[in-house]
Amino acid sequence: MKKKITLILLAVFIFLYGGTVTEARSVPSATKGRDYYEERGEIVWEVPTQSKVIALTFDDGPDAHTTVQILDLLKQYEAKATFFVVGNRVEKHPDIVARELSEGHEIGNHSYTHPPFQNINSSRLVNELNKTQDAIFQATGIRTVLFRPPGGSYNESIVRTSKDIGMLTVLWSWHQDTLDWRKPGVNRIVKKVLDNAHNGDIVLMHDFVPTSTQTVEALRVILPELQKRGYSFVTVSELLSYHDKSHKFIEVNH
Ligand SMILES: [Zn+2]
Repeated sequence: MKKKITLILLAVFIFLYGGTVTEARSVPSATKGRDYYEERGEIVWEVPTQSKVIALTFDDGPDAHTTVQILDLLKQYEAKATFFVVGNRVEKHPDIVARELSEGHEIGNHSYTHPPFQNINSSRLVNELNKTQDAIFQATGIRTVLFRPPGGSYNESIVRTSKDIGMLTVLWSWHQDTLDWRKPGVNRIVKKVLDNAHNGDIVLMHDFVPTSTQTVEALRVILPELQKRGYSFVTVSELLSYHDKSHKFIEVNH
């Protein structure tokens, strides 16, 4: 009788434990969250720092009108920023990307055609990244190590594949997603950034939003106000160098 109970308990244990193991094995890598990737230095959302530095980032460009206006404003306030460019747009406006670099800004890779990234396979991903690297190289003579997936989509495969070709995945501070691509109104964009500004923030904006000048107008308010509060605007690579801990990211020097 005792033996029978032991066997039953063993069976229950195997059932439960076996179930747990199966579940653990089948947990998709997409469930790995921010803590996992941040700890490993594989994705950056923002940088913990005592220094009053902020990284402004602009996605989806270059654009013949908006990007140029943004560059003029950045120059006026001696601000440096990072442009996550789309490869097929770089091919249309290589001169603008060259200007970005020559004025001290940083270029990042934001894919070639800006496709949905949720279920992208690695060969398509590599193709999207490499074609953009080539376009950036043609325009500027440099290759970037920064990568921002369209829509901020990430999973184990995206992080691994981009890391394997020497790129660091860069997202943005959750409290600094301006949603400027939705054209929410200049004041909403301004308020989002100014109300939430913290040391080490990575601010998400877009320099290509068809028929919208809201981002440019918002910057006319944001730049002088944050400067008045003592912030400096730095590129993403420079921001990483302000990290409080001696955090090991993949090499970000060009
Ligand atoms: Zn984008």
